[in-house]
Amino acid sequence: MIRVDLHVHTTYSPDASINPKTIVDQLYAHPSIKALAITDHNTVEGYYKVQELASAYPDILIIPGAEISTTDGDIIVLGTTALPAEPRTVKNVIDYAKEKGALTIAAHPYRAYGLGDLTRKYNVDAIEVLNGASPPDVNKLAENLAKEMHLPGVAGSDAHQPTDLWTVYTEVQASLRVDEILEAIKQGFVRVGSTRLLTDF
Ligand SMILES: [Zn+2]
Repeated sequence: MIRVDLHVHTTYSPDASINPKTIVDQLYAHPSIKALAITDHNTVEGYYKVQELASAYPDILIIPGAEISTTDGDIIVLGTTALPAEPRTVKNVIDYAKEKGALTIAAHPYRAYGLGDLTRKYNVDAIEVLNGASPPDVNKLAENLAKEMHLPGVAGSDAHQPTDLWTVYTEVQASLRVDEILEAIKQGFVRVGSTRLLTDF
């Protein structure tokens, strides 16, 4: 069993300020979270930079990914560095991800830029039920949606600045390998957890 943060932004997102080196240093030093997905907005440049730095360290893992803006809301795609072509409709992004063997997650469905109730129309692989940048009631709606759709619920900090890191994590029944982690998520061998107190919101 490992702990993974499935939603992290770097300076390669226009609205984020986390340096790739900070991510790698803190991940390596973290007592329990040993893997994370780089999910910059519509780019994998940040992933490449973080991965380049991380390759010097043992026992940590960086999952390639991106948070893709679609016409109806954000979708996280994990496990590929190939970005879908325009127009990025929800259907195009999901079809493309499946073609690449990648995993799709409805990011913070009930927050701004989330898919909301439209998520029901699409066959995403998982729902982000614990987003570190969303209040508890908004996460609760996402959790209810995952239950209703019988989909795995995952967690990601959605960190945009260094102090946002390591707030929440997904426990995955897998070893420290990208393919195993993605497969375990698809199978629902996951549990979400938070390192924060509710009063931190
Ligand atoms: Zn995000």
